[in-house]
Amino acid sequence: MTGATSFPRPSVVAMASANPDKVAEMVSLMEDVVRIQPRPADVPDVVEDAPTLEGNARLKARAIAEATGLVAMADDTGLEIDHLDGAPGVYTARFAGPDATYADNVAKTLHVLEGIPLSERTARFRTVAMLRHPSGAEIVAHGVVEGHIAVEPRGVGGFGYDPIFVPAEVQELTFAEMDPVAKHAISHRGRAFRRLRELLLALD
Ligand code: IMP
Repeated sequence: MTGATSFPRPSVVAMASANPDKVAEMVSLMEDVVRIQPRPADVPDVVEDAPTLEGNARLKARAIAEATGLVAMADDTGLEIDHLDGAPGVYTARFAGPDATYADNVAKTLHVLEGIPLSERTARFRTVAMLRHPSGAEIVAHGVVEGHIAVEPRGVGGFGYDPIFVPAEVQELTFAEMDPVAKHAISHRGRAFRRLRELLLALD
């Protein structure tokens, strides 16, 4: 599930995300192999209206690659809940509405799953990570973590849906109850960016 087209190995990449929660995770996963420039503040946010995670990652990466002339690094993540036929998926950030906060999205998720037993609350986070050269060449990596949605929020770490996502590999703890290193080791984003890092290191 990983594609690549070729471009020379960059020494610096421009970050397409300004979300401090995600940037901190991505920097810690990539900074030893490439210099990372923050997202330029003067580039307007792109409207993430592609029908897929990869399409949205591409919209973000293309805007920053074109604005900076550098290779851009972007990602997009979705939460897929089996009981909801894979929703919210590409709408994860705005599940509870266009200006939804993390707390709103958590509350909506718990509400729509009210009364649903644990065995039917299976879900996964999926991340698509991408490096895009201004020429349009790309390398793309995917990462997935399986788990379930807890019946109530637990923990204060992380962000987003972390207080209600219990990874299958840990079972008892939500992502918000895990330390960041333990979360990165198994998370969707950790997996996608470790794969992206391998693909970057394989460039000439
Ligand atoms: P984005 O499009 O990659 O910014 O992610 C969409 C939404 O997914 C975010 O607004 C968060 O609510 C949620 N999300 C992304 N990554 C994580 C994570 O690692 N833990 C919990 N929620 C996440």
